[in-house]
Amino acid sequence: MIEIISPPPSSLRLRMDDAALGANWRILDAMSGAATAGAAVKANAYGLGSGTITQALAGAGCRAFFVAHWGEVPELLAHVPAEQIAVLHGPLNAQDVGFAQATGTRPVLNSLPQARRWIEAGGGPCHVMVDSGMNRLGFALDDLGDAIFASLDIDICLSHLASADENVVQNARQLASFEGIRQLVTAKRYSLANSAGIALGRAYHADLTRPGIALYGGIVRPEFAGRIAQVAFPEAAIVQVRTLQAGDCVGYNATFTAAGPMRVGILGVGYADGYLRCWSGKGRFAWQGREVPVLGRVSMDLTIVDLSDVPDCREGDWLGAVYDLPLAAQTSGLSQYELLTLLGQRFSR
Ligand SMILES: *Cc1c(COP(=O)(O)O)cnc(C)c1O
Repeated sequence: MIEIISPPPSSLRLRMDDAALGANWRILDAMSGAATAGAAVKANAYGLGSGTITQALAGAGCRAFFVAHWGEVPELLAHVPAEQIAVLHGPLNAQDVGFAQATGTRPVLNSLPQARRWIEAGGGPCHVMVDSGMNRLGFALDDLGDAIFASLDIDICLSHLASADENVVQNARQLASFEGIRQLVTAKRYSLANSAGIALGRAYHADLTRPGIALYGGIVRPEFAGRIAQVAFPEAAIVQVRTLQAGDCVGYNATFTAAGPMRVGILGVGYADGYLRCWSGKGRFAWQGREVPVLGRVSMDLTIVDLSDVPDCREGDWLGAVYDLPLAAQTSGLSQYELLTLLGQRFSR
């Protein structure tokens, strides 16, 4: 029998500002006007940890939580009542329906086959997604005349905006379509806006808004600048410090060469952790308020930084990646959504 000893703490951590998370939710709730803000916590709360995030948001006053897959439900059930959890992909088969009914979590029905599957298994309170022009998930307008709608017990009638982060005519078109949907679908509550949709104004708010990225520090429209704060701070420890001489080159393919003597730090974070190769020669880390640049290629588990300006920084010290989402997106070419969701499992959360 092998004794399992738990490993020491990770040298990679995702520091969370829970106060900023709660403040972001309250701001988005206030910006939602007469509507209430829920929260998209799918994809492990955009990579940040859906259990702790859900618990913190519930503490701030949030009462509606959206995940994509049924497998994402158990993390939430420990923290919020089942009826507050909505599963966006809906029931694909009998096992999904059985799980929804056994737990009391609510499916978002997206199609006539899903609606029939739900009703044939006994039905119960559910949500529906209706397509208003994105042509992704949801009932088509033509489906809404089907007799099955009369037998559904619909809590939230949802639709989703495709381009709310831009000032384009598609927003007004989708809003007009949604107003038509509201005439055709009887539901307790109606919901259209994601984070960006909240900034489009009162007409888009309906009863419930569904912010995701803005809760986690994303600035997807100028209206959020200065109001929404960074929530997630990736940090890595220095595994080794070394001294280079003029002409020494650094990392895979030797893309950086030292011009003179310099100290470098080898951080235990790499592209396997979601610190992708696009940060090679571009990324920055910070130590005690001073920023240091990434040198050469980011490798799978390691990233090299220039310690010239922080002579007192040493092995074992923690550096924070400069990861303000709008700026990081601009520098890296990744979207603010990708920057969060790709952060890997080796970060302690
Ligand atoms: C992901 C998602 C949201 C949240 O979108 P953000 O742009 O992150 O605010 C809202 N509604 C649905 C249906 C989603 O899939």
